Amino acid sequence: MSKPRYAMTMDTKRCVGCSACVLACFAENEVPEQGFRDWIVFETRGTFPDLHQEIRSERCHHCSESPCVDACPTGASHVGEGGTVLVTPHKCTGCKACIAACPYGARFVHPRGHVEKCTFCLHRVKQGQQPACVEICPTEALLFGDRADGDSALARLLRARKNKTLKPEKGLEPNLFFLE
Ligand code: SF4
Ligand code: SF4
Ligand code: SF4
Repeated sequence: MSKPRYAMTMDTKRCVGCSACVLACFAENEVPEQGFRDWIVFETRGTFPDLHQEIRSERCHHCSESPCVDACPTGASHVGEGGTVLVTPHKCTGCKACIAACPYGARFVHPRGHVEKCTFCLHRVKQGQQPACVEICPTEALLFGDRADGDSALARLLRARKNKTLKPEKGLEPNLFFLE
């Protein structure tokens, strides 16, 4: 069996921008008030009167080619289970090299001095649970799973629905897919 490659899909047709995912993440991961691990983007496209609004719940893209990991001088930023990009707090000096390297703005400095970001809620995944944001979403706009398993619900959804990644020109092979 191939190694797992964790990923998430975000259905832009289902998301209503209610921020339940953001609040669930704050509660689950004790995110400090001035921080964030996920956030909502409202993007309006087109010209009047033909306007279209896309709503996206965004977080770290857990890039397969991760410049944040390459930039980290201490090894605090690293690739963990299922290709998930993680930070080991006690190894982090707070130098912010990873923040400068990330084109998605996915990281922040915790008041304790280390850098923090989305972990795909690995602590929950390891217990057979879904990430907190996925579980709470009232419209089931989020799905977490293993891309490497062709039979997974996530892999099937990616085959069935047109999808995109953000800033593909950066070549980072993101693992957060937006269903259109
Ligand atoms: Fe690193 Fe940013 Fe990619 Fe997350 S989104 S893996 S923090 S470069
Ligand atoms: Fe690494 Fe921390 Fe510096 Fe980021 S802030 S590059 S995680 S040591
Ligand atoms: Fe937050 Fe977990 Fe969702 Fe990442 S997967 S945004 S850490 S709730």
